[in-house]
Amino acid sequence: MKCPYCTGHRNKVIDSRLNKGSGSIRRRRECLDCRRRFTTYERVEEFSLLVVKKDGRREPFDRNKIVSGMLKACEKRPISVNVIEDFVSEFERELQERGEREVQSREVGERLIRKLYELDEIAYVRFASVYRSFKDVNQFMEELRELLRDKEKEPKGQKEEIEKGHESKPTLEPLKTEDKE
Ligand SMILES: [Zn+2]
Repeated sequence: MKCPYCTGHRNKVIDSRLNKGSGSIRRRRECLDCRRRFTTYERVEEFSLLVVKKDGRREPFDRNKIVSGMLKACEKRPISVNVIEDFVSEFERELQERGEREVQSREVGERLIRKLYELDEIAYVRFASVYRSFKDVNQFMEELRELLRDKEKEPKGQKEEIEKGHESKPTLEPLKTEDKE
């Protein structure tokens, strides 16, 4: 990566941004020789991340798959598509900036679950129920599943009251279960 001003090779990245549309990473760099700044665009393919599944198989990190999985969990919940997309972009960028080619599927899953937990408890439970195997899930999760079922049955007028009655969030700690992959 040469500096366009002095052709020096040494530079540092000041900022990187994933462009969702073009699938490129825009990097703002500063030349360590002449201190001038320039921008590079790199194709995401060059940084393609592999997700290592539990059985050792690798597959490409697929942001669309992650976004759609999260959106599915957020169906009919007050969470905007933008919030999900921004989160996934940020997460992808973080992973890319680590400079490693691979990430464990468990880490990806846990990260998404944590985010959903922050955003919305129902979305969290839905996602967790797909992601984790249910046999080991603790009592708290069972209760939340029932809450979810009840909510879906309730007519709209009563919904708010039920939600108020269950404000406390479950703790993430006891959910030591295996992912389904
Ligand atoms: Zn330079």
